[in-house]
Amino acid sequence: MSKKIFIANWKMQLSPAEALKTAKDFVRVFKNFKGTAVVCPDFLSLSGVAKIFKKSPLLLGAQDVAAFERGAYTGEISALDLAAYNTKYVLIGHSERRSYLQENDKLLAAKIRMALSQKIKPVLCVGENAAENKQGKEASVIKTQLKGALNYLSDNGVRSLLIAYEPIWAIGTGLHCHPDKALKVKNTIQDLCKRAGLKKTPILYGGSVTADNAADFLVPGGFDGLLIGGASLKADSFKNIVKL
Ligand code: PEP
Repeated sequence: MSKKIFIANWKMQLSPAEALKTAKDFVRVFKNFKGTAVVCPDFLSLSGVAKIFKKSPLLLGAQDVAAFERGAYTGEISALDLAAYNTKYVLIGHSERRSYLQENDKLLAAKIRMALSQKIKPVLCVGENAAENKQGKEASVIKTQLKGALNYLSDNGVRSLLIAYEPIWAIGTGLHCHPDKALKVKNTIQDLCKRAGLKKTPILYGGSVTADNAADFLVPGGFDGLLIGGASLKADSFKNIVKL
């Protein structure tokens, strides 16, 4: 049985009707699955997918969470309500939200805190852009991003954090990071987490993962799991990555 964590990020790619249909396909394909497979649908589909997943081994994730518990925050979704739908994981600071919605470290730390308050596991996404990668700055960018969020959390005894290393230039481009390079970054993340007093922080890789390259990231001593966008939109292609 695989101990790895596989997270499907459906982003805003599916209509609610398509998401529900795809969720049913996932339930059929993953009927006897014993590992950890998480699906993050959009918010409109989340309650429907939660019902469909009820008796399946699949876990529900969210793509974001509000930094506030409850109140006058138009358009936000509370961790309280995500928890009520049995949401177990939440993506925090995906590069698309960092760049299109200007999410900053302080906000991300507040979201992490909110998720943890409801026992939802936060998956903090970090990664360098193409220019930073060309200049060989990936380690320093990741350090800045991680330290940025962790600084705000140092007094909070954060334990169940997951980190996803997602080079921005690899997301949705078909150009995955070379596994050896990605593993170097993984080691940098691991060191930083240890120094910050975080123990056993699962570190995932994301960025153009397919069935052809997935195993290269999951070698012994490699990543603890994968975050998958495009290849997670069909049950069969996600299954081929998870290798049921
Ligand atoms: C993502 O959006 O988190 C992602 C990894 O996408 P893709 O697998 O399509 O590159």
